[in-house]
Amino acid sequence: METVACNLCGSQQHTPVYEMPDRLFFPDEFFTVVECDHCGLGFVNPRPTIAEVQKYYPPEYYRTPPTSSHDRYVTRRFTQEASYLQELESRNGRKKLLDVGCANGDFPRFMAARGWEVEGVEISESSQRITDFLVHTQEFQDIPVNEPTYDAVTAWAVLEHVHNPMAYFQKASTVVKKGGLFVFLVTNFHSAASRYLFREDIPRHLYFFTRETVRQYLDKTGFTLEKEDNGRNVYKLAPNNWLSFFLRSRLRGKKFTYNDVPLTSKEFRRLHQLPNGIAAALQYAAYSPASVLDRMLWPAIEAAQVLTKNYGISTYAARKL
Ligand SMILES: [Zn+2]
Repeated sequence: METVACNLCGSQQHTPVYEMPDRLFFPDEFFTVVECDHCGLGFVNPRPTIAEVQKYYPPEYYRTPPTSSHDRYVTRRFTQEASYLQELESRNGRKKLLDVGCANGDFPRFMAARGWEVEGVEISESSQRITDFLVHTQEFQDIPVNEPTYDAVTAWAVLEHVHNPMAYFQKASTVVKKGGLFVFLVTNFHSAASRYLFREDIPRHLYFFTRETVRQYLDKTGFTLEKEDNGRNVYKLAPNNWLSFFLRSRLRGKKFTYNDVPLTSKEFRRLHQLPNGIAAALQYAAYSPASVLDRMLWPAIEAAQVLTKNYGISTYAARKL
């Protein structure tokens, strides 16, 4: 483990915001998320070093169901992601894209089909090998490209995972052509899901951004922020347990800690060895009526959050100056 200063402003002054474990793989290992007193950046501190963090990315982490280009959800997501690059497509000549954190390469492939020349960056050894276009297999800041080369660099849900986001912003500034775009999606540290509801994927997520901290990163690295989309069009971060949080924290004025989070229905069934069915559903409803009501309220809660720009996910498009 290592203790770090703020990646954005260098300050050593920060305040704990919450503690939670690695819910996916190591439920007994707790981590603290802090907020920089000076600039407001959120980060895990102390945190696993680059060598130590590998343990939190076991092969199961990458074992997502294979996506097919006919999958309607994925196609809709890629179409939404591509919309941020549309204005560049109307310019003359073939455009070049670098997708950082390209995983199995489906998004660059989608853009190649729209006429783009594509490259990717992917450091995960567990992700499947890509042979149909160039993929750099080192950290973004270490790829052997050191001049303005790309019309656009994209990074979908990547910056929260890396140990040094500033190096990523700086590298993007080096390799994006003047007038080109850096488009990235991150979780929103202003949202209830990120800040209060223990929905961040810790310690795989190490950094937590807001529009203010994103703006400061961009100012320091030669970009200007052109667009921020807060919402659930690309990825979702559902406000699970918002009602439990609201009842405890807002109505009763008590701190909502990880111990106050009700078991999920799946965890509840496992604990009581109940088969999935009506009987288990009724027992779960009796155990946590708030969870059941919460699930019913999601659409309304999410709609309100999107409307007030407090949803858990934000996409930013920044122009290279
Ligand atoms: Zn700071």
